[in-house]
Formats: sequence, structure tokens, C-alpha cells
Amino acid sequence: MNHADMRAYKERLLVLRARLRGDVSDMADAALKNNRAEDNGDLSRMPIHMADLGTDNFEREFTLSLMESEEDTLGRIEASLERIEDGTYGDCGECGAKIPKARLNAIPYATLCVECASQSERG
Ligand SMILES: [Zn+2]
Repeated sequence: MNHADMRAYKERLLVLRARLRGDVSDMADAALKNNRAEDNGDLSRMPIHMADLGTDNFEREFTLSLMESEEDTLGRIEASLERIEDGTYGDCGECGAKIPKARLNAIPYATLCVECASQSERG
């Protein structure tokens, strides 16, 4: 992979990382606000549908599980940025094969080739 390609992927990774970081903190805020209102026993300020605690709990857990997968993606983006610095970006972390550009275009933070990814949960 040449330097121009590396730089293009690096820019995409940086944009993705910025977007994910923004989303993660917004979602964390929302989840924590819900938590505080409930802890105080202050349900009066919540919309009526939020008073159904079963639904509220479900929504909060769903939000938190989304955040976990975003944290995981962020970790992979960081690893990919390190690989760009090392000059190993685009090489499969498992078998060393070149990861096809079509795959990197779809998932710029992919660190495994398709074959290795299919044998691993890491994608
Ligand atoms: Zn591989």
C-alpha cells in the first residue's frame, strides 16, 4: 500500500473515531441522566411512558450494550491507526496476507483478512 492510500485510510479512521467518540459520550449522558432521575425517586419530571420502569430499564440496557460495541470498534480504530504508523496497515494480523482494499473500504478498521475474520469473532 502506498503513502497516499495510507493517508486516505488514516483520514477515514480519524473521522470515524471522532464520530464514534461523540456518539458514545452523548449516549452515556442520556443513560446516566435516566439513572439519576430514577435514583432520586423523581419520576414527576419524566415523560409518562418513562414511568413504566420495565421499559425504561430495557432501553437503558440496550443503550449500554450499544455503547459496549462502539467501545470495541473504537479500540479497533486505535489499533488500525497504530498499524498505519508502523506501516503494517492492510496486513492481516493473523496470517500476514494483504487485506483486499474492497474490505478496507467497507471496514477501514479491519485488522484481519476475510478468511481469518470468519474464523474469529473479531470480524
Ligand atoms: Zn488472514
